Amino acid sequence: MSMKDKQKRNPTVAIEETTYQKVKNKAKEKGLTLVDYVNETLLLNVEKDNFLKNYAPYIEKISVGETLVLRDHKTGKLAEVYIKNNKMFCSQDEADDCIHIHFALALPELALLKKRTK
Ligand SMILES: [Zn+2]
Repeated sequence: MSMKDKQKRNPTVAIEETTYQKVKNKAKEKGLTLVDYVNETLLLNVEKDNFLKNYAPYIEKISVGETLVLRDHKTGKLAEVYIKNNKMFCSQDEADDCIHIHFALALPELALLKKRTK
């Protein structure tokens, strides 16, 4: 590799081994190369983040654990989103279809939500 090629080289990032295995399998499932899949996923995540900022600028993610805690700056209240009877449920609206649910569904952290037993 010449000096010129080296300077033009694209940036690379390290992927953790456990992530790599999952990502590699998902890329294969979608019929994409690892590079294409990773790039597409990263870009879509950034775009989704921007989309959410426009879609619901008054909603802020506070924390993610078994429930997703959101602050609604319109009402000045916290909204807790969790899974109840296999449905997303919002504590503020006591509903399964509201802006907080829509917001939560678009967050990658959604994957961390666990079923509530009570
Ligand atoms: Zn709500």
